[in-house]
Order: sequence, then structure tokens, then C-alpha cells
Amino acid sequence: MSDERAERIAEFIRPLRVKPGSKVRLDRDFDPRYRAGLKKAEGVELLRSGVSLLAEYQDRLAAADSYGVVMCLQALDAGGKDGTIRHVMSGVNPQGVRVSSFKVPSAEELDHDYLWRYAKRLPERGEIAIFNRSHYEEVLVVRVHPENLLRQKLPEHARGPDVWKRRYREINDWERYLTDNGFKVVKIFLNLSREEQRIRFLKRIDLPEKNWKFSAADVRERRRWDDYQLAFSAMLSATSTEWAPWYVVPADRKWFARICAAAVLAHTLIGIDPQYPDVGEEARKELLATRRELEREAPAGASADPYAERNKADRKEKKGKKGRG
Ligand code: ATP
Ligand code: MG
Repeated sequence: MSDERAERIAEFIRPLRVKPGSKVRLDRDFDPRYRAGLKKAEGVELLRSGVSLLAEYQDRLAAADSYGVVMCLQALDAGGKDGTIRHVMSGVNPQGVRVSSFKVPSAEELDHDYLWRYAKRLPERGEIAIFNRSHYEEVLVVRVHPENLLRQKLPEHARGPDVWKRRYREINDWERYLTDNGFKVVKIFLNLSREEQRIRFLKRIDLPEKNWKFSAADVRERRRWDDYQLAFSAMLSATSTEWAPWYVVPADRKWFARICAAAVLAHTLIGIDPQYPDVGEEARKELLATRRELEREAPAGASADPYAERNKADRKEKKGKKGRG
């Protein structure tokens, strides 16, 4: 990775980052239609190169087996979480990624502390875990609909009016603990405008093959739009930290949201800079001895090492192309 490319990615996502300690007001501070002056065709090309960059880094992350990454995706309904996951992760090895979707908590989940179910889905070292909704629901939907808090069966001293402030602190502490122990937390909020949500809902109603995506609950939540905007603003203000900052991704244009999400994840992986393990002098010697043995087994007329030969020819061809073009 050239420093220049890493710097371009850092520069690209800078306007999306919520400065730790700043007071966010979503409607004033972040424009859902922002697109950094890009056109869609340029965007599609950028995403393609971003996806292959992610594939390479994920391979190294898995090989290094030391760091893990948790990518939390939050959005209002029809914000584009599913499509973002599908596109951004399209190039990576499925064995290194696990996606968890968090819905209304089960009876078993309600019988534990509120972070329990999220902790259970954390990645192993070398893995990327994607949280489709995340522990942030605990200060969003639970805050907008306080009856959810009642269902959590908290003892009286734990459900006072300071519960949200306390949860912000607990979440920050938890993420700091994870970060300190090699698990980076990447947080993306897909910021959709009210009008674009209306259009996407209508599309889901108008197209029969999209009907299954629509639920009456979605419109009920939409009626609470302003309450959600306030809950999101408070959450972004309180939980964007140096170790796990929030990125507010403009989501009215799906193609742009996907580039942003890929860039934020790439930025994190570049920061980790995972390396393929060096097997060491001894193991290397053994490999060379084995290679000689395999070379001696070449059938009559066959090359001793067809792989090396092909590789050399490919490199020569590439060099020739470069020279001509
Ligand atoms: P889709 O894009 O398919 O609609 P979704 O993430 O909206 O995906 P749904 O099954 O429609 O999935 O909705 C999940 C619901 O679960 C959301 O309304 C969300 O607010 C709710 N939910 C998630 N976490 C909690 C929680 N901790 N307490 C209460 N409700 C929660
Ligand atoms: Mg839904």
C-alpha cells in the first residue's frame, strides 16, 4: 500500500468522522446527499478498487491472526445496511467474515446484561465481524421506546433517569477494552434523509418483489423520526471516541454510501497493517529441501517447477505490456 493511497483514503473519510467530544446535531452537521463531488460512474470504479483492497487486507488480517475487527452498522429503516454489507464484503473470503443481525431480543437475551448478546458475536482474532444493528440499539430503539427498557428486568437502581448517560460510558469503556486487546471497533451510521426514506418505502410497496421487505412497523418507526434524530445525535455526541470514532455516511445515494463504508473499513485495516507471518530461518530451509525433492519427482519432459516457470513468464509479459503502454 502506497502512503499516498492510504493518505487519499484518510482524506476522503475525514469529513464523515465525528470529532470526539463534539456536540452533533444531525440535521445541521451532516448532509445525507453529500457525495464529495463524485459522479456515479467514478464511484463504481472506486468501489471496485476498494473491494479488492479489502480482500487483500482481510487475507493478511487472517494470516496475522492477531487483530480482529467489529464493524457496526446503524441506520434507520431502508437506510441500506443490507446492500452495503453485500457490496462492501463482495470480494472477501467468506471464511474470514461473520455477519450478525440483531433484532428484538429473545427471552434468553433479556435474562442477561444488555451487552451479553453482542459480546457473544464478537470476532475471533483474524476475523471481521459485521454487526447489522449493534449494541447501539440499546441507546436508540430502547431510548425511543422506553417499554423496551422495562422488558430488560433491570433492578430499580439501574433504571433511573441517568441510564442513558451510564450506558454511553459503559459502551465507551467496553469498546476501549476491546480496542486495547486487539479488537478494533468500526462504527458507521448510514444517514438517510426523511424524503429518501419515503421514496424507498414507496418502492417497496410498489414493486411486488420488494413487498417482503416492508413492514407496518417501519412506518410506525418513521412517525418517530424526530425522536430518532435526537437519539442518534445524542449517541453520536457521547460515543465518538479517539479509539472508536463514529463515521456518519451520507446514505441518500446508495453507491456513495458503499464507497464510504468500504473506505472507513479500509482505513482501519491500513491502520492495523497486518503482515503475513514470517515462518523463520529453520522452516524456510526445510521448505527449500522439500522443493528440491519435489523437483526431482518431475516426470520425463516436464519442467522441474512449472509454477516458477509460469510465474516468470507472467512477470515478463506484464513488464513488456508496461514498456509498450
Ligand atoms: P430489514 O432491513 O430486513 O428490515 P432490520 O434490521 O430492520 O432489517 P427487522 O427484523 O425489520 O430487521 O427489525 C429488527 C427490529 O429489532 C428493529 O425494529 C430494531 O429496532 C429492533 N431491535 C434491535 N435491537 C433491539 C433491542 N435491543 N431492543 C428492542 N428492539 C430492538
Ligand atoms: Mg426492518
